Amino acid sequence: MTHTGTVYLVGAGPGDPELLTLRAARLIESASLIVHDGLVDPAILALASADARLISVAKKRSKHTLPQDQINALLVREARAGRDVIRLKGGDPFVFGRGGEEMEDCHAARVPVQIVPGISAANGAAAASGIPLTHRDSASIVSFVAGQCKGLKDQNWAGLAGKNRTLVIYMGVKTAPQIAEKLMEDGLAPDMPVAIIENAARPEMRVLRGPLAALPQLVEQQQVISPALIVIGDVTARENTAVAQMALEAAA
Ligand code: SAH
Repeated sequence: MTHTGTVYLVGAGPGDPELLTLRAARLIESASLIVHDGLVDPAILALASADARLISVAKKRSKHTLPQDQINALLVREARAGRDVIRLKGGDPFVFGRGGEEMEDCHAARVPVQIVPGISAANGAAAASGIPLTHRDSASIVSFVAGQCKGLKDQNWAGLAGKNRTLVIYMGVKTAPQIAEKLMEDGLAPDMPVAIIENAARPEMRVLRGPLAALPQLVEQQQVISPALIVIGDVTARENTAVAQMALEAAA
């Protein structure tokens, strides 16, 4: 009987290779097979050895190159053929990364799985933009939500944003107008401060700020592209974030 390989669900972080865990870096460097998402930065893939086989299963919001069940099947097939598979994902595999689904399918096929956490976009973006997710004066609650999901309108976000709380929205660029509308319908003030962090922890990062009511215009006029996070709450308007922005501009 062939030995079964292990599937490693590995978080690649938000982009900067320096933000990989040591374990992720070692696994990538020694991998013979890497199955990766489109979000994984080329600088990280460049750590792989020249003879590693790299398979991209890039997903775009409207264009799936490989449906999720086929990705899961690919992982199982390779592991059953005796190969260890490094399944490399942007950010953390268990935060909007479908890592749970891949793990469950592997377990169902009796393929061993190991999870290697990564720095999720929210943490990477917070650090890179100087916007703390929590702050004793501004927020003691932080929530992560998916802005592109089935039935966005019916999602109950009541109470997730507002005074003393921070709401981080993943995958929300395309649905920004509906998101702003939804939050204001829930009672959020139109002047609640908002930040958009595009390409966090990458050289081309942009940090944009404005009031909630202007979120759709900000996205449109500044032509915000994916990947970007929308952060809603007073933490985005603290004075020290302006200082961090100046430091960013000075460094650019
Ligand atoms: N597992 C990932 C999230 C995957 S969902 C994680 O933990 O970060 C994809 C969404 O993540 C994107 O639409 C975007 O909202 C966010 N994202 C990922 N990388 C990002 C980056 N470098 N800058 C800003 N947002 C990012």
